[in-house]
Amino acid sequence: MSKKSFAKHEENRFDLNYRSVKISNDLASWLSEKGYESKRIISNNNYKKEIKGWKADMPPKLSHRYVAVASGVGSFGWSGNVGMKGIGTTILLGTVVTTAELEPTKPIPLEESFCTRCKLCTQVCSASMFSKDKEVKFSLGGIEYTHAARNGYVRCQYVCGGFTGLHPNDKFSTWSPGRFPIPETNLEIYKMMGKALRRYQTWPERTDRKGGYINQSAPGVNIRLTCGFCQNICWGNPKETSENYRILTESGCLIQNPDGSMVVFPPEEAKEYFNALPVKHRRKYQIEKSAK
Ligand code: SF4
Ligand code: SF4
Repeated sequence: MSKKSFAKHEENRFDLNYRSVKISNDLASWLSEKGYESKRIISNNNYKKEIKGWKADMPPKLSHRYVAVASGVGSFGWSGNVGMKGIGTTILLGTVVTTAELEPTKPIPLEESFCTRCKLCTQVCSASMFSKDKEVKFSLGGIEYTHAARNGYVRCQYVCGGFTGLHPNDKFSTWSPGRFPIPETNLEIYKMMGKALRRYQTWPERTDRKGGYINQSAPGVNIRLTCGFCQNICWGNPKETSENYRILTESGCLIQNPDGSMVVFPPEEAKEYFNALPVKHRRKYQIEKSAK
């Protein structure tokens, strides 16, 4: 979060996903060996393609979050991410579906949730994915839950997917050097993402490592994992979460040089440094007003 190494940030995200898939795979194989038909459900990049608009909404094959809350693994935070006391939302879920008849475990009582509703998770999201005041209510296994209304997954695709990264307050960025606007409506975001995508594909190659991966929703595009802040900020206790918030919001803004290397500066310095780069290079990361 202090923006020391993009490669390490990305490696950590990949490693978490890899470990989650491996654990669920091993568990499903073990159950199958015992004679219970079992399947692991991959935790990410695994969508219900039969649903219209799946590339934008990215509906998972199964909601790992709902399964985790219904079975008492964790609770919903305000963001809707699932977390645990003392760990917060810095977790990645994996699921196994099995015919083995296991004794159900009870959900965690609402009053025992890790979430203090500090809402710092909403403030670190450049994409305004989570409402600060609007809630959604729904029932799972007869229990009513609430969390922030989510404003549309295309927002996360645009920011966490790496196309843009500068927070609208211009004070900090994700690991994306993109400085494109983040419009109000989802429709405008779709349109802006199209423009940003064309420029993104002209960015120079990274010098830290190749990085990135191919997401099913954007075949042929190398997607960088640049954010995850809503998850990483929340460590399940108010003191550490607010310290993480301070570290992140003071971590500066990322700029990519014409040779592909990345540099991080405090916001004002970053602006000056960026504005001193050749116009042709700058146009790869921002859209001038006339081009909007
Ligand atoms: S950051 Fe605060 S509001 Fe958000 S999930 Fe964590 S404890 Fe809840
Ligand atoms: S990963 Fe980043 S862009 Fe996506 S919802 Fe979380 S904070 Fe917002």
